[in-house]
This record gives sequence, C-alpha cells and structure tokens, in this order.
Amino acid sequence: MDYQRIISKVYTSTLAKDNIGKVPDYIPELANIDEKKFGVNFTDLKFNSYGHGDFEEKFSIQSISKVFALSFVYERLGEKIWDRVDVEPSGNAFNSLIQLEADKGIPLNPFINAGALVICDILLEISSNPKEELLSYIRDLAEDDNIHFNEKVAVSEIKNSFRNTAMCNFMKSFGNITNQPEAVIDLYCHLCSIEMTCKQLSKSFLYLANEGIKPLSNEKILSSTKAKRINAILLTCGFYDESGEFSFLVGLPGKSGVGGGIVAIYPNHYCITVWSPKLNRKGNSYRGMKFLEEFTTKTGESIF
Ligand code: GLN
Repeated sequence: MDYQRIISKVYTSTLAKDNIGKVPDYIPELANIDEKKFGVNFTDLKFNSYGHGDFEEKFSIQSISKVFALSFVYERLGEKIWDRVDVEPSGNAFNSLIQLEADKGIPLNPFINAGALVICDILLEISSNPKEELLSYIRDLAEDDNIHFNEKVAVSEIKNSFRNTAMCNFMKSFGNITNQPEAVIDLYCHLCSIEMTCKQLSKSFLYLANEGIKPLSNEKILSSTKAKRINAILLTCGFYDESGEFSFLVGLPGKSGVGGGIVAIYPNHYCITVWSPKLNRKGNSYRGMKFLEEFTTKTGESIF
C-alpha cells in the first residue's frame, strides 16, 4: 500500500473542501490559533513515517493526554481503577455533569472530563510529582525530550475551569475525589496543555498499536490485555457523543482533543495523527474526521 501517495491525495482533496466549525473559545488561549493549520502524520511499527502540511508544528494536545494518563495509572494500579471509573460510552458531551448524580459520582468512562479528573486524582495519590512524571512518561513514549507544558494555556484553562471544578466538587461529595479539587484541576489543566506535533503523537501512540510494547526498544508499557482494553475504550468513548459516528465513518480506535488533534490507531500496523483546529459541534476536529474517513475508505483498512 502506498500510504504516502494516499495521504497526499486525501490531504489535497480535504483541503479543497469546506472547513466548517469553530475553534474553542472557552479556553481563551486556544482561540488564538490560526484555524487554517492542517497537518497529518502516519508512522507505522517499522518506523516508516510520512507527513504532510503542518505535521511538525506543535499544538495543544488537550484531551489526547487523557490516554497517556490512563495508561500510566492502569499499568500501576491494575483493575482496581474500574472501581472509580466505568468503561461505558456516555452519549453526552465531554464536559457534561448530567449523569454523575445518578451514578453517584462514578464517571462513565476515563475519556470524558469527569473520568479524566478521577484519573488525575489517582495520579496525585500514587505519585509525589505527577506533572513531571507524566511528562517524562510521554517524552519516553515519543523518544523525544522536546515536549513541554504550555503554562499560558494551563493558566488560561485553570482561570476558566468552572465546569470542571464543579465536577470535581460534586464527585468529592460522593467520596470519588480524595485530593483538593484545586490540585486535581491544576494537574488536569497542565496535562491538557501539553504541546506535541502530529509526528510526535503518532510515534508516542505506537505502543497501543503494538499490544502494549514500545516498538524498537521493545519496552513493555502495558500488558497486551490492558492495551486491548484501552483500544476498546478508545473505540467506544474516544470521541464522546460522537464515538459511534467516528467508528461508523472511520472504523479505528482513536482520541480527539479540543486543540483540533485526532490520533487513530490501526492495531498491529500504524498510528495516524491529524491536526486541524476548527471543531464540529461535538468538539472534534471537523477536518480531522473528514480526512480520516476518506483515508480509511481509500486504504480499505479498518478494524472491521
Ligand atoms: N481541557 C479541555 C477541557 O477540559 C479538554 C477537553 C477536550 O479536549 N475534549 O475542556
């Protein structure tokens, strides 16, 4: 399969189409981005890597960081984590509070904000320096030390974290947050503020395409069962209330972020990352979804 040619063709045809949607402004710092940015990177398990457009430019990975946080905590704590967060699609927006009351403060999955906040709370319990530990975990996965928090983005989100703070307080009232909400929000917003390129993201997700093992170094990041389970949750919950649509149109597990990034995984083969800042109504990159839909249609490759 000539992936490079397919990527280049799909890039050109996506670029020629409408770029609908808008950049998020509820995190003021994210609204400053040039909405015409568009990058793609494909990296496979043999380290063939093809990029197009703005694929070497860093952007805010936002909720994509929830996957790294989950992997880190899951490997250390094991199945116990599912006592505090479930594995069911929510059918609601990523920042919804609606289901938490009925479920007594147990979030439906680790990729909605409530679930990621619980994972951050666990991180604070198991690590004395979770920010630095998570950052070095991600740098190790990407084999690249040039990955940093964007302090301006973190502060901009912390100052406007009214919904996430409400969620934290609400879950604390049920006993599912043990630390002070301010500390959980600080960690969560810092993880969301990490900046990476499409190329760095594709490479750093390869362990999920490789049964939990980092290719090249052969380092075991997760057991194969845990990697399978994270892929399963990515497929069913990675795009919030648009997870069914992503699965229907693209057919791969993946994760989006409000910075406009999407990483998709073709297990045993490759990872592909797309970045385009304009978001659709569900908070997922409009062009990112269009690109990946056409890409998997042209390759004929999906998990189905
Ligand atoms: N930091 C963002 C928030 O909490 C992450 C959401 C996202 O990327 N979907 O709203």
